[in-house]
Amino acid sequence: MPRLEADAVASLKLINVPSDHMFIAEYSHGEWRKARIQAYRPVPFSPLALGLHYAQIVFEGMKAYHMQDGRVGVFRTPRHQERFTISLERMLMPPVPAELFAEAIHTLVDVDRQWVPPGPDASYYIRPFVIATEERMGLKAADEFSFMVVGGPFKPVYTRPLRVKVEREFTRAAPGGTGYAKCAGNYAAAMYPTKLAQDAGFDQVIWTDAKQHDHVEESGTMNLMFFIDGALVTPPTGDTILKGVTRESVIQIARDLGYDVIERPISVEELTEGIPSGRVTEAFGVGTAASVAPIATISVDGTDYQLRVDDDCRMFALKNRLNDIRFGRVEDVHGWMTIVDGTAR
Ligand SMILES: *Cc1c(COP(=O)(O)O)cnc(C)c1O
Repeated sequence: MPRLEADAVASLKLINVPSDHMFIAEYSHGEWRKARIQAYRPVPFSPLALGLHYAQIVFEGMKAYHMQDGRVGVFRTPRHQERFTISLERMLMPPVPAELFAEAIHTLVDVDRQWVPPGPDASYYIRPFVIATEERMGLKAADEFSFMVVGGPFKPVYTRPLRVKVEREFTRAAPGGTGYAKCAGNYAAAMYPTKLAQDAGFDQVIWTDAKQHDHVEESGTMNLMFFIDGALVTPPTGDTILKGVTRESVIQIARDLGYDVIERPISVEELTEGIPSGRVTEAFGVGTAASVAPIATISVDGTDYQLRVDDDCRMFALKNRLNDIRFGRVEDVHGWMTIVDGTAR
């Protein structure tokens, strides 16, 4: 892996590479032990580590920002920790206590703070995860795990407006399933349908409900939002729609800006009728990786529906306010940022 060179982070020549350090702790006999920061390096597992075979693996994705006054801040650590707990519970894995989670992330970001690139779009991506490490021939719920946190400088992947396909055949999440958990298997299962869509010229799929495939749920690994009749409309979260931290934050910002916000199911038909008639004016995905990703084309059963994407779109007002908070350009009225103060170096 390339190591840090002068200005390489600032000029963003180094992206999508891990920073110098990682956090690791091990769980056995009912408790987390030996929490430590170490040099980033491969970790040894038994080839029979249960997580490698049966996908007892849960992760989070979050970000730190190089704020305009030079401070480094992490976005909504407590929210990510809460969701981590929900995902771990669903996979029958031990919770990571809030203090351990926060300390792991904030210490890693602090130690590697020179890896946090300046804005306007750049950030430091943080990947906490737990994997079952117990060595065992045969299926069993593990009793031994590792909790690790790695990270590195990041720039958004989606730069142009997306062309997405409403998925009518494959299913991401079903009622009673694991769609609400950030567990590894969900992402493996999504790769094949996503590849088929990409081969057909789309950037992503819009997942629909498992039973009828007639209501939209998420776009790739982002929550889905629309402006319909002037209001911000998004499907409610539940066991098939992941509770995005970005989604929740954008909803709060929309309310702060005085927009109407409606959480309700959205049918495919509402889009195929509402886009041509002008009732549906904007569509976009929201998630930690891309922040706000505009959607320009929605394809339904072979027909393209085009949406306007320009500077007047309200999704950009939401995105700008979100970034203003993350980069410290406006007051953090909701207390979303944890400032990492340099004491761990
Ligand atoms: C991570 C993820 C999201 C977005 O969640 P954020 O907390 O906003 O990053 C949405 N949907 C799925 C399926 C995800 O995995």
